[in-house]
Amino acid sequence: MFITPTIHQFPIPTPFMVGPVNVYLLEGDPLTLIDVGPNSPEAYDALVGALAQAGYTLRDIQQIIITHHHTDHLGQISRIAEESGAKVLAHSLTRAFLDNPTTTHERYKLFSQVIFHEAAVPDEVVRHINRSYEFLQRYGNQPTPVFRLLDEGDRVEAGGVEWQVYHTPGHAGDLICLYHAASQTLIASDHIILKISSNPLIEPAAVEGQSRPRRLLEYIAQLQRIAALDIRIAYSGHGAPVEDVRGLVEKRVAFHHKRAAQILDFFEGHAYHLWDLTEKMFAHVPSDEKYLALSEVLGHIDLLERDGKLTRDYRDGIVYWQPRTEAHQHR
Ligand SMILES: [Zn+2]
Repeated sequence: MFITPTIHQFPIPTPFMVGPVNVYLLEGDPLTLIDVGPNSPEAYDALVGALAQAGYTLRDIQQIIITHHHTDHLGQISRIAEESGAKVLAHSLTRAFLDNPTTTHERYKLFSQVIFHEAAVPDEVVRHINRSYEFLQRYGNQPTPVFRLLDEGDRVEAGGVEWQVYHTPGHAGDLICLYHAASQTLIASDHIILKISSNPLIEPAAVEGQSRPRRLLEYIAQLQRIAALDIRIAYSGHGAPVEDVRGLVEKRVAFHHKRAAQILDFFEGHAYHLWDLTEKMFAHVPSDEKYLALSEVLGHIDLLERDGKLTRDYRDGIVYWQPRTEAHQHR
C-alpha cells in the first residue's frame, strides 16, 4: 500500500504571453505550495481564492517549494511567505533570485547584452527587449529568506509523502522536478509542458567567468533522463497534466533536431550571425519577444556546433556561423 498524494492545481493569472501559471497545493503534512505566481493583485486574489475553495487560508501553508526563478512562478513569493509564515525551499541556483533579486536580474541582463552584441542584434531591438525585461521585473519578488536548499538527489516531505528532487537544467538552469516513485507522480514545472515546447532561455554561467551554458543540449539530456522514469502523471507549470511523458519527450526531441536541420538549410554555404538567422526563422515575432526567438535559434546553433555541422568565426566582435566543410573536417 502507498499513499497517492492529493494535489490541487490552481491556474493563476499572469500578465505574460504564456497565460496562466499553475500553482499546486499538496494536501497533507506539511501542507505545501509548489510555486506561487507573479507579484500582482490578480494573482494574489486568485491564489487566496483557490486556497479558500480547497478549505485553507494562507496561514495554513507550512512550506513553499519554488521550481525555478522565472517571475510567473515566484513573483509574489515575498508576500506569500510573509503572510503564511511558511518555510521557503528552493534550488541553490534559485537562491540568488530570492536573496538578492535586483542584483541577480541585473547580472542576467548584462550577460544578455554581451550576447546581443556578439549576435549583431540592432540597437532598436535591444531597447525593445530591455523594455520587456523591465516589464517582467515589475511582477518580481523582494528579497525572501530561504529555509532549505534543494539539490539533485535530495528528499523532501510534502503533502504527506516523500519526494525525490531532480535538478533538470534546460528551460532554466535552476529548474527542479519532484518525483514520487510509489505513485509515479512527477511535478514537472516548465520542464515538460503539453501544449508548448518550453524554450531554453539564454542565461549566464552559474559561476562568473565560466562559458555560457548550452541550455538546449542540457534540456534534451534532461528530458531523456526524466522520460526514463516511470511516470503516470506529470503536473506542468502551464496547462493540463501530461500522461504520456515518454511520447511527448520523443516528439520534443524530434522537433529540436528537425528545427536544427532547417536552420542548417538556411546557410547554403554562407556565414551568418545569430541575428540574421533569427530574422530568417522568426521575422514575424515582435521585437519585444525576440529574446525568446534568439534563445531558441542559439540553442539550435549549439546543437549543430556540437554535432560538428557548424563552425564559428569572430569578426569585429561579432560571431559568424558557417557550415563545416570537408576542409574543416580534415584540419
Ligand atoms: Zn519558466
